[in-house]
Amino acid sequence: MTSYCCRRYVSRLFQTFGKPQPKPKSERKEHELGLSCKSHKLMLYNDIIAPSHSGGFHLLPLGLRALEKLTRLVDQEMEAIGGQKVALTTLAPEALWHQSGRWVSAGAELFTLKDRHKHQYCLGPTHEELVTKLMANMTHISYKHLPIRLYQITRKFRDEMAPKYGLLRGREFEMKDMYTFDTCEKTALETYNTVCGAYERIFDRIGVEYVKVSGATGIIGGDLSHEFHYLTDVGQDSLLTCHRCGVEMNKELAEEDGSLPGVCQLPGSECQLLERRGIEVGHTFYLGTKYSSVFNACYRAQDGSSMVEYEMGCYGLGMTRILQASLESLSTDASLRWPRLLAPYQLCIIPKKDRTHGEEYLRLAESLSDQLTSHPHLRSEVIIDDRMSLTIGRRQVDADRLGCPYTLVLAGKALESSPQYEVIDNYTGETSFLSWEQLSDFV
Ligand code: ATP
Ligand code: MG
Ligand code: MG
Ligand code: MG
Repeated sequence: MTSYCCRRYVSRLFQTFGKPQPKPKSERKEHELGLSCKSHKLMLYNDIIAPSHSGGFHLLPLGLRALEKLTRLVDQEMEAIGGQKVALTTLAPEALWHQSGRWVSAGAELFTLKDRHKHQYCLGPTHEELVTKLMANMTHISYKHLPIRLYQITRKFRDEMAPKYGLLRGREFEMKDMYTFDTCEKTALETYNTVCGAYERIFDRIGVEYVKVSGATGIIGGDLSHEFHYLTDVGQDSLLTCHRCGVEMNKELAEEDGSLPGVCQLPGSECQLLERRGIEVGHTFYLGTKYSSVFNACYRAQDGSSMVEYEMGCYGLGMTRILQASLESLSTDASLRWPRLLAPYQLCIIPKKDRTHGEEYLRLAESLSDQLTSHPHLRSEVIIDDRMSLTIGRRQVDADRLGCPYTLVLAGKALESSPQYEVIDNYTGETSFLSWEQLSDFV
């Protein structure tokens, strides 16, 4: 039995969102509006996001679909390493942040507010305090239960001094943050490597070129830290790399620890220090007992009576930043290009406008859509461009502009006795004519 609820029509989609938005009249005007990078413009002009206030953006239907796909991908990799998903509160009591010393050190970046009883809170910019307190209250946990790896994908709030480039530096944004709890340094470092491995798989699957560098520990603190960066000119970090001697670090770190002058000038070597711009899309920290000692977060040791502080790690991924930074890296000036796995819809069917056979092409599009969406991984991935008064070319412009990876054109050969379907790979421009069997194999 076919299920009609899976049919999605472009005419309905565009009644609300997805139409090209009017662009400012000049580059100067764009600049005044803070529209200074390609991905930010493409997301605004194509209804992926809409501005709310400085550093705040609404995610519109296409943008949210892409974010949900990224969320599923990240969930899979977090579950694969034993991650348990939680959702901690957004409001964090002032007292906990004083206890860690970060109410003061995080300073102006905290969004703070008071309730009606004059109790003060911050809107969580990160959750080490809350999660460590949570674990401190779980006094039944013993060495047998470890490692514990908790993660969440939630809104974070930071009063950035200079929000910029849309979702790349927002004042509220979606972050995946994992917090790990181990018995000792040795197992905590194993966990650290396991999570870094999961991050590498996530970035490999997204498919945008990235680099991993030693990172600064900033206000999070700890001893060991790596950052994952996408290389792009709009990135606000400087990365130092040298293939010869293996230097891979954030310049900030080299400046912090004073190693910058000699970072890769070994006598007699042929070092070539490269300095490139990157945008930080992920960050891993080995924390040791920095937070567990403050909150007295302990597990029951093997002897059954003594309580030992957790060895911790924390691991962030900038979900909304990854989304836009991928677009920055892959898109052309005119068209969105998503990592294929994250494209809001995978396939757009365009039935030919035709005075005599138009209706037939449209019915065929619907029937193919029903058949294709019975494949589990295409369930909600097919849209039919049913704007039958427009030419194929005109509708293809929209499919391309919105970065739909594939278009299926239904024209002359599609109605023949052994039909041929034209499939266009919008990302490579390649066109192929496929029989129904070939099309099924292809999807
Ligand atoms: P940055 O150096 O860019 O300010 P950060 O080092 O302050 O980032 P972390 O505290 O390490 O950020 O947070 C984890 C991840 O959250 C970052 O790697 C980044 O991908 C993302 N992130 C941080 N700040 C923002 C922001 N303002 N907007 C969007 N994503 C952000
Ligand atoms: Mg920051
Ligand atoms: Mg940073
Ligand atoms: Mg960081």
